[in-house]
Amino acid sequence: MSDTIAVFNPSTEEQIAEVPHADQATVDAAVARARETFESGVWRRLPAAHRAEVLFRAAEIIKRRTEELAEIEARDNGMNAIAAQQIIKVANEMLIYYAGWVGKIHGESANLVSDGLLGHFEEYHTFTQLEPVGVVGLIIPWNGPFFIAMLKVAPALAAGCSAVLKPAEETPLSALKLEEIFREAGLPDGVLNVITGHGETTGAALTAHPDVDKIAFTGSTEVGRLIVKASAGNLKRLTLELGGKSPLIMFDDANLDKAIMGAGMGLLAGSGQNCSCTSRIYVQRKIYHQVVEGLAAFAQMLPMGGYEDPTSVLGPLISEKQRTRVHDIVTEGVARGAEVITGGKPLDRRGYFYEATIIANTTPDMRLIKEEIFGPVGSVIPFDDEEEAIAAANDTHYGLAGAIWTENLSRAHRVANALRGGQIWVNSALAADPSMPICGHKQSGWGGERGKKGLEAYFNTKSVYIGLT
Ligand code: ADP
Repeated sequence: MSDTIAVFNPSTEEQIAEVPHADQATVDAAVARARETFESGVWRRLPAAHRAEVLFRAAEIIKRRTEELAEIEARDNGMNAIAAQQIIKVANEMLIYYAGWVGKIHGESANLVSDGLLGHFEEYHTFTQLEPVGVVGLIIPWNGPFFIAMLKVAPALAAGCSAVLKPAEETPLSALKLEEIFREAGLPDGVLNVITGHGETTGAALTAHPDVDKIAFTGSTEVGRLIVKASAGNLKRLTLELGGKSPLIMFDDANLDKAIMGAGMGLLAGSGQNCSCTSRIYVQRKIYHQVVEGLAAFAQMLPMGGYEDPTSVLGPLISEKQRTRVHDIVTEGVARGAEVITGGKPLDRRGYFYEATIIANTTPDMRLIKEEIFGPVGSVIPFDDEEEAIAAANDTHYGLAGAIWTENLSRAHRVANALRGGQIWVNSALAADPSMPICGHKQSGWGGERGKKGLEAYFNTKSVYIGLT
C-alpha cells in the first residue's frame, strides 16, 4: 500500500474514514487472487444450486443489515435516509434477480448438414455453450455506490466470473462491506476482491492489467474513453455505462400535475447526480409558463439536508469541486442570457449543498444544455411542434435516456421510436426494473446492464461441432 485516501461526509464536510490507496502491487495481488479462483474453479465449477444459495444468502444478510448499510451509504455519499434505504433495497432486488438466473442460462443445439470440403455433405451435432468470461474488473462511480456495485457484482458472480471491484475514491465504504457480506454468505475467498484507490492510478492499473479479461465501468464518458484506450493491450471485453444529458418532452395534452411532479423528480432525484437525470425539459408553448412556475414551486418545496436530518429530501453534492463546477455552468449560462427562475447558488450552510435550480432562456450551445451537470439544475425550453421537440431532444452526443409526457397514445409511441436513447419513460419518471436492460446509445455507452442481456455480457460463447459422418 502506498498511502491512504480520506473519506468525507458531504453533508457535514467531516472526515469519516480513511481507506488504503491500492498501488500496482496491490492491484496485481487482487487480480492474481481472482485468477487463481477462476482457474481452480472453486466458484464457477460449483453446482448451480450451491452458487445460487450463496447469492440468495447474501441477499438475506443485506436485508437484515439494511439499516446499517443505508447509514454507511448515506454518510459516504450524502443522500438522505430514505434514499439510502431505497438504494440498499433496489441493490438487493438486483442480486435476487440475478441469483434466480444461476443455472438457467444455456446454449443452443442443432443437428446440421453442411457442404463438406471433400465434395459431399457432412452431418454434425452442434451446440453452443456459455462460458464465464474470466476475471472481471468492476469500476464504479460515487452516485448510488452500493447499487451500481451490485449491478456488476451480481451478474458477474451469477455467471461464474471472479472479480476485482474498485469503488470511487469518494465513496468506498459500502463496497468494502459487500466483500464482507459475500464472504459471510459462503463465497469462496478470492472470488470477489475489493480494492480502493484513485481512478488515474488504481483504476488505470486495473484497466490496463493484462490478466483482466473484461472491464465493466460506470462513470463519465471522458473516463470511458480512457478505459477503451487502456484496455486495448489485451483487447478486454468492455461494458461501458457512461454519461447522459437526457431530454424530457412535455406535450400540452399531458396530465399536468403528474407531468410537473414527474419532471421535478426526474431532474432532482439524487440532487441531479444521476446519469439518467432529465435535465433538458422541452415544454409545448401553450403550457410553458405554467410548467416553469410549477417546476420552480416543486423545486422550492423540497427540504435539503443530509442523513442526520430526517426531513431532508435533497442531499448535498458529492464534493466542493463538483459544487464549484455546477455553479460555473450556471454562472456561465446566466452571463450569456439564461434566466434563473429559482435557485442558482450554493446553499449558505455546512455541506456541499446547491439550491434546486430551474433555468429559462437557454440556447442550445450553452453548457447548461450540452453538458452532463450532475447537480440539481434543469433548463426548461419551449417548443411548438412534435418534430421540433424531437430534433432538439436528439441534438446531443449522448443517448442514455429520455421521457415523454402526453395522453396521446400514438404520439407517445411515435416519439418513443424517434428518441435516441437506451431507456425511454412515457408518463413516468426514472422507472427501473432489474429485468429491463439499459444500453446507452451514441456516446452513452457500450453494451448493456440489467436483465438477461446484462448477464450475457459476462459470458463468452463457444460453438462446438461434433462430426457424425
Ligand atoms: P464521475 O464523473 O462520476 O466522478 P468518473 O468517470 O470520474 O466518474 O469516475 C468513475 C470511476 O472511474 C471512479 O471509480 C474513478 O476512480 C474511476 N476512474 C477515474 N479515472 C480512471 C481511469 N483513468 N482509469 C480507470 N478508472 C478511472
